[in-house]
Amino acid sequence: MTEKKKPSIFQMIKNFAKDSAEFVKNGAPMCSEEEFKERMDICRACPELTDEDKCGLCGCYMPVKAGWKTTECADDPRRWSKLIDDDKGRAAMEDFANLEQGKNAVNNPQDFLKISGKSKATQADERREHIRKMKRRPQG
Ligand code: SF4
Repeated sequence: MTEKKKPSIFQMIKNFAKDSAEFVKNGAPMCSEEEFKERMDICRACPELTDEDKCGLCGCYMPVKAGWKTTECADDPRRWSKLIDDDKGRAAMEDFANLEQGKNAVNNPQDFLKISGKSKATQADERREHIRKMKRRPQG
């Protein structure tokens, strides 16, 4: 049997950032108490859960991650799934990937701001900075 690779700190931060972006993008939908309990019961019976309630595969703190409808188990096959429309989730993931790679989402300040979920003042500053950068880019 092959041992599953544990995530590095960098990978854990990346995983959590990705989950957070998808959660915010979908309007921060929280699980009901029953859904949360059902997920946590599965995690608590899973050999990957650490004593600190973190998943050994993704590194996420499960009492937080299991409360978000947009998240899913990190194992393959999954022990529990997302509780939202998958098309929306997929679109959010694509937006996040584009954002990471500096593609479409970053070319559109509105998309960038929708994903970031920051305060209006911060968003206004970032929008100005983004527009400044876009103007400085060589044309053609
Ligand atoms: S998310 Fe999946 S793999 Fe991780 S602890 Fe929970 S059930 Fe186990």
